[in-house]
Amino acid sequence: MSPRRNYPKNRRPDTPEREISTSNQSFEEHEDGDYIVRKITGSSSTKPYRCPGCDQMIPMATPHTVAWLDGDEDGRRHWHNGCWAKKAHRRPNTERTRNAPRY
Ligand SMILES: [Zn+2]
Repeated sequence: MSPRRNYPKNRRPDTPEREISTSNQSFEEHEDGDYIVRKITGSSSTKPYRCPGCDQMIPMATPHTVAWLDGDEDGRRHWHNGCWAKKAHRRPNTERTRNAPRY
């Protein structure tokens, strides 16, 4: 289903891909799919977003992470950098049967 994968480690600068021309975009494999991940700087963040990781707002002008499933750019979500990192480090076979930690 998904077209060629473009791993950041093997980025070929002279190969035109469907990727938008951003240098801060990368590709990550997660337990629930393959994600395109883009780091947003504070200056390019012009409106607040709700982070799906913690259900809190990401204020304007805050550096954060935008991620979407490969091939589903319409479904992209905005994450706090820390929340995205936590998602990335989650393992499929741990935490699943335990209660979510309370903060
Ligand atoms: Zn968050």
